[in-house]
Amino acid sequence: MHQAFKIGSFWSKIPGYEARGSCPVCGEVESISHILLTCQAIGRELVWSLARSLWERKGLPWSVPSLADILGIGTKVWTVPGRRKRREGASRFWRVLISESVYFIWKLRCERVIAHADEEGWQHSVDSVRSRWLCAMNLRLHTDMDMTHRRFGRKALKAQSVLATWNGVIHDERALPYEWNELPKVLVGILLRVPLDAG
Ligand SMILES: [Zn+2]
Repeated sequence: MHQAFKIGSFWSKIPGYEARGSCPVCGEVESISHILLTCQAIGRELVWSLARSLWERKGLPWSVPSLADILGIGTKVWTVPGRRKRREGASRFWRVLISESVYFIWKLRCERVIAHADEEGWQHSVDSVRSRWLCAMNLRLHTDMDMTHRRFGRKALKAQSVLATWNGVIHDERALPYEWNELPKVLVGILLRVPLDAG
């Protein structure tokens, strides 16, 4: 939003470093919009298709968020289609899903462009992108569950809010034990479900 990242046109003003402003895969100016929404490097499109596969389990329509949607993520409210009734769980899940996916695409870009800068043509594998994104989402789920613990006092998340957030996307909700928020260890095996053909 404030052009804070040292990418794209930032480098065009620095003699000798102009080439850093271009995406090494696409050759275009590497803006945030390019990285998140149009870059052809392996990862971006797959992450959005994985996000879609989870989002559609909420029974709500999907389209890849625009840059404005991403920057204004905190204000998005989903309602029951055709009605004004707010879906708080789905709205919170949207914020989690989009922010985790955006951050993950950014991390992939930094690994490719900075960490592997010396290896021309280096890209992630499809399998590693898929499994790492799933891992990141599972970590987020477990952080949510941990945050319901009473040791956080008034700052603790409400278990009902966490359940509403993840309702429909957890692999086996029947595996959630009664008062699961007091028994987080029981949940280690729970995984999000993503169809194998996603992406
Ligand atoms: Zn690109």
